[in-house]
Amino acid sequence: MVMKRFLWRRDKEVCSKFDFDQPLSFRFDEHGVLMPSVVQNDAGVVVLPVEPHHRILGIVMVSEQAAGQIACNGIPLALGMHALRHADRFEIRLETYWISVEYSVEETEYDPSRYPPNSFCFLTKARLVAGDPIAICPGTPDIPCGMIYKLSVWKMTQQSGTTFRCPNCGHSPARAGWAPPEPRRWESLKSLMDLAGWRRQERP
Ligand SMILES: [Zn+2]
Repeated sequence: MVMKRFLWRRDKEVCSKFDFDQPLSFRFDEHGVLMPSVVQNDAGVVVLPVEPHHRILGIVMVSEQAAGQIACNGIPLALGMHALRHADRFEIRLETYWISVEYSVEETEYDPSRYPPNSFCFLTKARLVAGDPIAICPGTPDIPCGMIYKLSVWKMTQQSGTTFRCPNCGHSPARAGWAPPEPRRWESLKSLMDLAGWRRQERP
């Protein structure tokens, strides 16, 4: 199973995704935008990746300078250390970031010395023999899995239009991967004003 942690930042319609596998701080770039950085810390905030456990995959360290300027899911964070969970949103000054974890499937060959002997494909219950191509379900941020599927069966579950979910953990190959929620269309006052203006012009 391959695990990857990400830090996301959205600028209007554009989402940027940064690897979150080492401590990150934030620096102002030439446009005055706070960007994740491994070297410089202008905001007094450091996020540290940790081995995922019960959705927790990072720690945020808030300095005295940053206390009151950072919030997690809308709740201001005090000076000190706070856990960050999968899909948490945090704001530093006016910038919004998210963190997420992604597990991808491991494709390999069945080796009775490495996996339980006399194993069966989790879905079809077909007995596995040494050398059979297999896929190992990666699980979800909530439920680690590790069930073994015949590779051909796993691939069938990924064909377009299937709504397959691993019966053990609920992982859906077609819907694996997380991205920040889309911005709501009417969330800004300006877009409401634009709508009102457009409606007025449409009237005879
Ligand atoms: Zn599973």
